[in-house]
Amino acid sequence: MTMAIEVTARHGAARAGVITTARGRITTPCFMPVGTRGVVRTLSSADLDDLGAQIVLGNTYHLMLKPGAERIGRFGGLHRFQGWDGHILTDSGGYQIFSLEPGGNVRLDDHGVTFRSTYDGSTHRLTPEGAVDIQTTLGADLQMVLDVCAALPASPAVLRLAVDRSADWAARSRTAFLARERPELSQLGIVQGGTDVALRVESAQRTVALGFDGYAVGGLSVGEERTVMLATLTATLPHLPADQPRYLMGVGDPVGMVEAIALGIDLFDCVLPTRFGRHGTILSMAGRYNLKRAENADSDRPLDDECGCPVCRRWSRAYLRHLLIVDEPTAPRLLTMHNVWWTLRLIEAAREAIGAGTLDGLRSRLLAAYG
Ligand SMILES: [Zn+2]
Repeated sequence: MTMAIEVTARHGAARAGVITTARGRITTPCFMPVGTRGVVRTLSSADLDDLGAQIVLGNTYHLMLKPGAERIGRFGGLHRFQGWDGHILTDSGGYQIFSLEPGGNVRLDDHGVTFRSTYDGSTHRLTPEGAVDIQTTLGADLQMVLDVCAALPASPAVLRLAVDRSADWAARSRTAFLARERPELSQLGIVQGGTDVALRVESAQRTVALGFDGYAVGGLSVGEERTVMLATLTATLPHLPADQPRYLMGVGDPVGMVEAIALGIDLFDCVLPTRFGRHGTILSMAGRYNLKRAENADSDRPLDDECGCPVCRRWSRAYLRHLLIVDEPTAPRLLTMHNVWWTLRLIEAAREAIGAGTLDGLRSRLLAAYG
């Protein structure tokens, strides 16, 4: 095993810890900004250093199509290509294939998935083994298996097929990964099963039996109620090894993350802070708001009175709103910086709260602000 988590503090089921990999250390809980195409949109790797990001996500689907994994490999891998020394996690590409091309352009079979490129309509095929090859060529420190994520709500038969296929593909992925003999890289299995608790438990047990370096919970936060998501997590997490990292895929709303941290999740990724930022939706300890609203036109306050980010230290809501209203490209960049900083600090606050035994207070405050 190349990746272990040392738990340094606990509060109920919540845990703070340190993941150690060949590249270095990741303190947890940890939020991973999404760098879809080799960049977190509007930011640079230097910005991510300044914001204190520890790990950034890359999307296999986009990178395999443009500029191509082989090309990135010729530059020494994704770290060197994008000038980033921190950790990189890549997804398997499956989620994008299913979400970008629902319907006729995707053909799923027992062996893999055939799809059309969102860029030029060309036909491509991804298999569990191919996803391992691509992610290894990219040099991703943390890699995800290709899985089948059923859109919710789904019928029992659809969920059953997705779990069986995901388990089969996970086994093939693990074999392919180990055959590459790259002990400095780690591979995570993914638990599926929709909101069916029995299927989730079965999927967790079948995935853990394959002996991955860490485990993700996929297929949640896809439209179900938050209480349903949390109940599913509560049933699933006891079936994952306590001494390995746990990653909740695609959840990044403030309340959802803190609730999941309370249940024992270590890692998160989500496009929410960056997408919100580009469109002028600001995350703050008082809740989220639209900067474009008229009341901000004459406001000399920072985006969040409690935020110490480089944007809040320097500029007013009035100035940032002006940039946004006149479509200056600087606006989405600065607002993204604030939202990413704010999200990273929120997770740090949760980490400190676990140590201090005050996580319930932080959760109550966020629930009051975000509902
Ligand atoms: Zn700020």
